[in-house]
Amino acid sequence: MPDVFTIDVEDWFHILETKETPDLPAWDALPSRVEGNLRALLELLDTCNVKATLFTLGWVAQRFPRLMREAADRGHEVASHGYAHQVVHGLSPAQFRDDICRAKATLEDATGRPVRGYRAPGFSITRETPWAFDEIVAAGYTFDSSVFPAPHGHGGMPDVSRHPWVVRSAAGPLVEFPISVAGTPLGPQCFFGGGYLRLFPLRLVMRMAEQVRKDGRSVIWYIHPREIDPDHPRLRMPPQRRFRSYVNLRGTAAKLKAILASGSFATMGELADRISAAAPDPRAIPLPS
Ligand SMILES: [Zn+2]
Repeated sequence: MPDVFTIDVEDWFHILETKETPDLPAWDALPSRVEGNLRALLELLDTCNVKATLFTLGWVAQRFPRLMREAADRGHEVASHGYAHQVVHGLSPAQFRDDICRAKATLEDATGRPVRGYRAPGFSITRETPWAFDEIVAAGYTFDSSVFPAPHGHGGMPDVSRHPWVVRSAAGPLVEFPISVAGTPLGPQCFFGGGYLRLFPLRLVMRMAEQVRKDGRSVIWYIHPREIDPDHPRLRMPPQRRFRSYVNLRGTAAKLKAILASGSFATMGELADRISAAAPDPRAIPLPS
């Protein structure tokens, strides 16, 4: 199976669950860095001839519609990261529905193409929010990548399959791509995105990617545009959070280039189509209720 390279398209101030993160009404007045940073990532993807899946905030598409149209015209898949970057377990079902429907409509207006995929901010679908899958399907999405199959700060479902599976929601089927984790003596660990990818040495990341592929899984890589921008403004945070958010920003672009040059890639939508068309994989289990 090919790997999937995903980008969570949001700005430098979209860091979750910190006191300093500004609220939605303040965002328009802040200096934005997402356009320049996403363009740099698109150049890198072109250089390596890789098509990515861009989980984009509706707010970003509202502010930069031409950027998202251009990304789609360049062959990338534009998917949804919700509108206002709120964790799912902090919303009611009705609030969640409004957010993901507004995001989908805004992204489709910007790109002129259907939007099929969704990823929750902070991978924040948990056992406490089983209704989220019903809402995602009812909103018209056909695949999702919101589950972190290990303990995680904003979410985490440690007891689910690490392989993609089809969620049998009340509203219909949904292909779920859990974030990639590799086995370590200390338990399952992600090496393939965000602070994990920036912190761990490239050789270790590549070795762990090989472990995931040998297990018959695609590596789901993920990155944020701010992570290739060492000069972006910083939010004030406690030391541990600050370290995780800002460690090794200078080395990320070179790491990504090595990763993109090393493997074969498909968009998540392409893999979702393959999974939907294939006979059910015996390892792909429905989400236990
Ligand atoms: Zn996010």
